[in-house]
Amino acid sequence: MKKPLPDWLDPTPWLPNTGSSDRRAIEAAIRSENPGERELALMLSPAAQDFLEPMAQRAQAITRRHFGRTIKLYTPLYLSNFCNGGCLYCGIAADRKAQRSVLDQKHLRHEMEAIKAMHLEELVLLTGERMPEADLPYLRDCVAIAAEQIHNVNIEVFPMAEDEYRLLADAGCTGVTLYQETYDPVVYEKMHRWGAKRDYFQRLEAPDRALRGGMRSIGIGALLGLADPRFDILCTYRHAKHLLKTYWRAGVSISFPRIQPQLGGFVPDHPVDEKMLAQFIFALRICLPEIPLVLSTREPARVRDGLAGVGISKMSVASKTTVGGYSDDSEESTEQFSISDDRGIPEFCAMLRAKGLEPVFKNWDSTYREPAHYRVAAKNLDDLRKTAKIGDVLSSTGESWKVENSP
Ligand code: SF4
Repeated sequence: MKKPLPDWLDPTPWLPNTGSSDRRAIEAAIRSENPGERELALMLSPAAQDFLEPMAQRAQAITRRHFGRTIKLYTPLYLSNFCNGGCLYCGIAADRKAQRSVLDQKHLRHEMEAIKAMHLEELVLLTGERMPEADLPYLRDCVAIAAEQIHNVNIEVFPMAEDEYRLLADAGCTGVTLYQETYDPVVYEKMHRWGAKRDYFQRLEAPDRALRGGMRSIGIGALLGLADPRFDILCTYRHAKHLLKTYWRAGVSISFPRIQPQLGGFVPDHPVDEKMLAQFIFALRICLPEIPLVLSTREPARVRDGLAGVGISKMSVASKTTVGGYSDDSEESTEQFSISDDRGIPEFCAMLRAKGLEPVFKNWDSTYREPAHYRVAAKNLDDLRKTAKIGDVLSSTGESWKVENSP
């Protein structure tokens, strides 16, 4: 690696604990009132699998305390599967013989009508790498069209510059999902054979740029199976802490994508089984009580049913991983990966209700859609200094200022 991991990310001091077999230390970590990296690493260890039941109980209690008995729902919409990327694990990488497609505005409107009819009010728009078929102006138009119908429009696309994120926030985009795939720079280089995505740090720093560009929320995660998952989960935790500390008003969520079958037949070197997945989710819930933990339809129904409300507070539903796919006139295209849980909304919601959980279709309103500002306090205070009468002004950062310039 040419450049070391930044201090805010590097998990090296805590890695030895991920191999601990000290049962008393693991039990103490699960009960800890203020768990940090050390406790997380202990709960990630193979030996901690003997304590899955107490971990699940604590994770469920914490989830109920912070999210009630609710599961927030969202659905993804693939806009394009054109991509020049060379990601080994992806079914629509440039060297796959995939059927390519991109939604035009007319078809996008049809898709939006179909999604709106499902009463879902949170949407994630997806593309591959930046391509002529799906570049920034195209994305801006798609966000604007989606935002006419859906309250909460998010994107899961290529990393961008801060100004580009601002343009999308102005068009009505409220959040960005961007997985680092793996935080291990050596494996990262091996997995990303060519293309813009080979730049590890350009991707790592994109969530910061998105939030500075006006996005209200950011979703992060690692594609479990690519590298040592305990390293990746520790890094995901530290990444989330960095974002929460730096942009304290932003929403940060974590997803747990596992490698699924895809065109190309990639087989992961570090497979994560269902027990490990549950362990990682419980451990992160115990260490990050307040942030949404997300599970998608990549996972089979039995895994989703078991983890709903037990750490997990947000789930995708009725997902398609082909371009479009929700309206009757959707064209054929290759999917990025296979989904496992293909239940429709009524069936999925019936399962949640049978477990005493309430599906939430909407918990945010587009009235609040103007871009977020995390770094404007100083400028606003300059404006206030010019216009306000003498007095104390409490800035949006909570800092108290004496305003001396009266008009
Ligand atoms: S993972 Fe994304 S960037 Fe990589 S090949 Fe697939 S669509 Fe392209």
